Amino acid sequence: METKVSPSTARAKAELLAGGAVKVPKDSRLPFLPSRSTAGPGAGSTAVVFSFGNTRAKKSISRDEGEFELLRDGDEMSILRNGEVFIAGVSLVPTLYHAPHQAFINIDSTCIMDCKFCATPRLNEGITKNLTDEKIIDMVKDASRKEGFQSVSFTSGVPSSPAMAVRRMAGLVSATRKLFPRTAIGVEPYVTRPDEVEMLKEAGADEIKLNIESFDRDIFEKVCPNRDFDTIMHMIIHASEVFGKNRVSSNIIYGLGETDENVLEGVRVLANTGAVATLRALRTNQYNAPELERALGALIPVTAERMLRLAEEEKKILQSYGLTTLGFKTMCHSCLSCDIVPFWDV
Ligand code: SF4
Repeated sequence: METKVSPSTARAKAELLAGGAVKVPKDSRLPFLPSRSTAGPGAGSTAVVFSFGNTRAKKSISRDEGEFELLRDGDEMSILRNGEVFIAGVSLVPTLYHAPHQAFINIDSTCIMDCKFCATPRLNEGITKNLTDEKIIDMVKDASRKEGFQSVSFTSGVPSSPAMAVRRMAGLVSATRKLFPRTAIGVEPYVTRPDEVEMLKEAGADEIKLNIESFDRDIFEKVCPNRDFDTIMHMIIHASEVFGKNRVSSNIIYGLGETDENVLEGVRVLANTGAVATLRALRTNQYNAPELERALGALIPVTAERMLRLAEEEKKILQSYGLTTLGFKTMCHSCLSCDIVPFWDV
């Protein structure tokens, strides 16, 4: 199957994602506010989504230094590396909330689960937001009036119990569904009971993301000390029955010390249930690096080659199960910004 981007663009995207920040010169004004995400791999950093060659990449930006540099020449923009043009024909994509074309809202950044890779609960007060349901619905309405609005997604930490967080999410899905009967809605909860999956579907969610995080059981136990691997797998299997094929996704983070075989075994197990893995290279920053090193020891940074190789292998597995990333309308497979996306990029 044809991909949406050329091999050289996919390679450049992988190198950009694997590399350091993009320096945006102090005298260069951004046409809109950068994204200050409270969830996802860029949580806690100031980031911008760059578009080039029919794909996108979200990168931390810095006004002082960076491995890459944004160059403006009139209306044209390029990303430089070592003073040379690395990617030409670059444009900046606005994020409605967190992601391009989506109101992807983190309902609550507070979390008791203590997953070691997650920066979200470690963000300081200034970044963490206290959002009421009313405010969240106002944010969805606000996003819906903006150009390019396509979908709504909700994620959440677990401030007290998983059940309460899911119940709140279902209420927000239901309110959103009433306002927007035809807009795709995605949810990324931590569910522990099958009826919670059904509650979200009945509230009006179209797609669900239940993150297994790592298929290496030893690593999982070290990085997700308060979550249960078997419960998550059970929920993924149930979600695939409730939501259907190509409507369920699940993050597998790589770069935690696992092998490629282990990652791809995870892709296969998920595909066998009808779920599509989101393969995500580990990103470290000042919020998660100390905890990760305490749990796992020194980590080897993920290379662009590994990103491309794993995405290509995932594509072959998904094809053999009749699955694809291309049908997703919400969350990461449609956003494209943080990962090499099989079928789109490779
Ligand atoms: S790929 Fe996922 S985590 Fe990254 S910006 Fe898009 S929606 Fe957020």
